[in-house]
Amino acid sequence: MSERIGFVGLGIMGAGMASNLIEKGHDVVVWNRTASRMEPLVAAGAVAATSPAEVGRLCPIVMICVSDTPDVDAVLHSDDGLLGGVSVGSLVIDHSTISPGATVGFAEEVAGLGGSWIDAPVSGGSEGAAKGTLSIMVGGSEAAVERARPYMEAFGTTITHVGPVGSGQQVKIVNQILVVGSQLAVSEALLFAQASGLDLEATLDAVKGGAAGSWMLANRGPQMIERDWRPGFTIDLQQKDLRLALEAADSVGSPIPGTALVFQMYRALQNEGLGGEGNHALVKALEKMSGIEVGSP
Ligand code: NAP
Repeated sequence: MSERIGFVGLGIMGAGMASNLIEKGHDVVVWNRTASRMEPLVAAGAVAATSPAEVGRLCPIVMICVSDTPDVDAVLHSDDGLLGGVSVGSLVIDHSTISPGATVGFAEEVAGLGGSWIDAPVSGGSEGAAKGTLSIMVGGSEAAVERARPYMEAFGTTITHVGPVGSGQQVKIVNQILVVGSQLAVSEALLFAQASGLDLEATLDAVKGGAAGSWMLANRGPQMIERDWRPGFTIDLQQKDLRLALEAADSVGSPIPGTALVFQMYRALQNEGLGGEGNHALVKALEKMSGIEVGSP
């Protein structure tokens, strides 16, 4: 039997994910802090709630997709927060990328009210959310994950149960270490191609199908050549993920020097007021060092 789904957080990712749930025929209740962001979803068939607590009262399963750990905390604990609507049998699915340690604490609070929690951060960018092709790394009990799976299938094509609560967020950190390494490589490669006077589009075509091919190269390479810095994923959110990565790596004693370097490069770009640009604007930090720009005539 299909259960009613609540969705809290209709940003770049959440709006796409909630749209896919509605499109696949699910009964969806939405709430977003900035109310105007609910309008397109309501036009598509969702019901607008007045608070996260109301979402919890109306829906046995509630998905969250907000920015950072303090924001999930606010969704849960603010006046009329979600915990006020959680009861025995509720399932909270957190698709935000947040601290693995805080996740375990949130899950314990929900368990104390008779509910369950799974952490289910996503990867695949704004494109993946819109097309319904996200990869989802999931931590939680087997029963909770299997209950959530049919609903996550509305927007995810790869759904992997990786372990207990918190381990989804840990695997997401693995994902982000890979993502920023790839972003740095694409930036250096395109800047070298530019400095060498190569045709950048032909260069991309030549390498993207071989061993050097990657999601970042295929999706963000063309945008970098066009100098289109509109965000699929902002530098500010990317930087938040790298902070989570540095904290988590420190806690287990694992060196991540490449990730630390990219963290510092993004910090420099934030200091220049570029935190709202897409994470592929990383190349701008290298442009400063080299005195040339990718995609310039
Ligand atoms: P976004 O477009 O900036 O949207 C953020 C959402 O969180 C908005 O709905 C915002 O509400 C809400 N929010 C933030 N702080 C809040 C608070 N204190 N209380 C209530 N609502 C709050 O971000 P996004 O790109 O969708 O990212 C959402 C999550 O997905 C993040 O954890 C991010 O790391 C992760 N993620 C993003 C991508 C990507 O490519 N964009 C990929 C994978 C994972 P308002 O509308 O009121 O601001």
